[in-house]
Amino acid sequence: MRYFIGNWKMFGVPKSISILDKINKFVKSDKKFNKKYKVVITPPHTLVQSYAKFFLNKKILIGAQNCFYKDNFGANTGAISPLMIKSIGAQYIIVGHSDNRSEGDTDVMLKAKVESSLNNKLKVVFCIGENKEHKIKNKTFEVLENQIQSTLNEKLNLKNIIVAYEPIWSIGTGQIPEPDDLLKTTIFIKKVLKKIFKKQKSPIVLYGGSVDSKNISQFKKLNEIDGFLIGGASKSDQNFIDIIKNYYR
Ligand code: PEP
Repeated sequence: MRYFIGNWKMFGVPKSISILDKINKFVKSDKKFNKKYKVVITPPHTLVQSYAKFFLNKKILIGAQNCFYKDNFGANTGAISPLMIKSIGAQYIIVGHSDNRSEGDTDVMLKAKVESSLNNKLKVVFCIGENKEHKIKNKTFEVLENQIQSTLNEKLNLKNIIVAYEPIWSIGTGQIPEPDDLLKTTIFIKKVLKKIFKKQKSPIVLYGGSVDSKNISQFKKLNEIDGFLIGGASKSDQNFIDIIKNYYR
């Protein structure tokens, strides 16, 4: 199974649902390949409820981006908990995106977010990734292992966790890793996950960072990559559809 997960970030108003409607129609019509992949879109919180309702029992699954790190309800102005997100129909949640890490998410907060999301039956897309300096100093593996170890543990159910490897230097820059490096990194991440989760289900690891309809063909042969987290290119139905088409054709 491959995942094509769109992260809309701070984009979208109610009528932007037409973008998803076109993607949904494409997936429905893509009979030859559509059993091989899942499409998940994470709009901003303001749109999760209406979109989740509209796409209930259709091809597109709806998730949310980020959540507060404390459970359920509390005196936290402006905060939204996993329980609240689940209650409006989201099925997935992105946790640990570098945007949020750079805005103050600590490992302790991320651990709480992951656990609370899983407790509320959301599937977690947990993002990890090194910055440019880590890469230059050859610290990528060390950074990734630390990010994983400090948030995930064997008591969690790996079945409900997807890890998205998103090098920070690649997000929104048009730069993508060399295929060989990406393959090695993906294999390394899977090794770390297998060490933690032992005989639990095989880990699912996505790549994210500047994926578009032109460069997607470079990822086709990298079998270890279970799918993609797509930012900018997920805001256009045509780009998103072309990513799926060019991946399979
Ligand atoms: C992201 O922010 O998760 C992302 C992958 O962005 P982009 O595809 O625009 O690089």
